[in-house]
Amino acid sequence: MDLGLILNKEELTREEIIFLLSLTGNEEINALFGRADEVRRQFSGDEVHLRGIIDFSNFCEQNCIYCGLREENFSITRYRMTPEEIIETAKIISNEGIYTVVLQSGEDSFYDTDMISYIIYSIKQNTNLAVTLSIGERRFDEYKAWKIAGADRYLLKHETSDEKHYFAYHNRQRLYDRINHLRYLKQIGYQVASGSLIGLPMQSIENIADDILLCKELDVDMAAFGPFIPVPFTPYKSHKQGSVELTLKTIAAARLVLKDVHIPATTALDSIDKEGREKGLKCGANVVMPDFTPHPYREKYIIYPGKRGIAEDPLSAHKMIKRRIEAIGRKISASRGDTLKKNTPSI
Ligand code: SAM
Ligand code: SF4
Repeated sequence: MDLGLILNKEELTREEIIFLLSLTGNEEINALFGRADEVRRQFSGDEVHLRGIIDFSNFCEQNCIYCGLREENFSITRYRMTPEEIIETAKIISNEGIYTVVLQSGEDSFYDTDMISYIIYSIKQNTNLAVTLSIGERRFDEYKAWKIAGADRYLLKHETSDEKHYFAYHNRQRLYDRINHLRYLKQIGYQVASGSLIGLPMQSIENIADDILLCKELDVDMAAFGPFIPVPFTPYKSHKQGSVELTLKTIAAARLVLKDVHIPATTALDSIDKEGREKGLKCGANVVMPDFTPHPYREKYIIYPGKRGIAEDPLSAHKMIKRRIEAIGRKISASRGDTLKKNTPSI
C-alpha cells in the first residue's frame, strides 16, 4: 500500500486502518503522526480543551476483569464523596478557568437518580460548567432525568468492539447492550464519548481498527484510546501493559478516520510515559483531563497503579499540566469545547 496516498485520503477502509496501525519504520510512523497533527489542527485548531475530573466514588458493582475498582478487588479502600463535596469541587474547577467537569465513578447505585440529578442541577446553578457523566451503564429513564437536570455529555467507552472479548472482559455485561446505551444517549441529545483500551489480552490490530470504526458508526463526539495497565489483585495482573507506540498510532489513525471529534491524551498514557500527554497531543489529541479529586480520596481511586499526579495537590498538578501544554506551543481553550460536529446542538 502507498502510505502517502492513504494519509491524504478522505475515507479510509478497514484494511488501510490496519496498515497504518501496523507501521513499524520511524519515518513512516512520523509521517502518520505528522498528518494526524495537521488534521487535528484543521478540525479543532491549536486549542487544548481541559476537562476537570472528579472521581467521586470508587465503589463498583461491576467486575471488569482489567480494572482496579472491580467489585472483587478487596485490596482497595472504598470511599464515597458527599453531594456537597462534589459540588464544592466543581466550583473549584470552574474557578480554575475550566469549562467542563467530568463526574466519574464506578457503577455505584448508592447515587440514585435523584442524587445525581441534584448534583448536576446544583453544579449548573452555581457554575458555567458543561457536565459530563462517566458513571457506567445506568437505566434509560435515569439518562433522561439527568439530561433534564442539565447534563451535557456522557462518557462510556465500549472498551472493545469484539463481542467475544467483551464478554470475556465483562462477564456480567454484553457489547450489544453497551452499544444500545450509547445509541440511546446520543438520541436523547447527549454529546457522547466512547473508545477502547489498547493492549488488552487477546486483542489484535484488526480489533483496534474495528474499535475506531465503531466510534465512526456511533458518530461519537469524543473518542478515547488509552493503554491497558495491569493491576495487582486482578486476573490480568501478570499481563503486559499496552504499548505507548500502538496507543499513539491508534490516536493518529482515529484522527484520520473520525476527523471532527475530540480525542484525549489520556492520564493512563501519561502514567506509562513521562511525556505521554505531549506525545498524544502531537499526534492527533486535543483534550486533557486533569484530576481534581481532593485528598484523601484522590489516592484511593486506583483504577491502575502508578497514576500520574495522584500524590500531588490537585491545583499544583493542574498548573503543571497547563505548563506542559503551553511548552509545546498549544493554547489552553477558553471555551466549553462542545462537539466539533456541525449541525449538532451544543446543549
Ligand atoms: N465506571 C465507569 C466506566 O466503566 O465507564 C467510569 C470509571 S472507569 C474506571 C473509566 C475507564 O477506566 C474505563 O472506561 C476503562 O477504559 C479504564 N480502565 C479500567 N481499568 C483500566 C486499566 N487497568 N488500565 C487502563 N485503563 C483502565
Ligand atoms: Fe467498574 Fe468502570 Fe472499573 Fe468496570 S471499568 S470495574 S464499571 S469502574
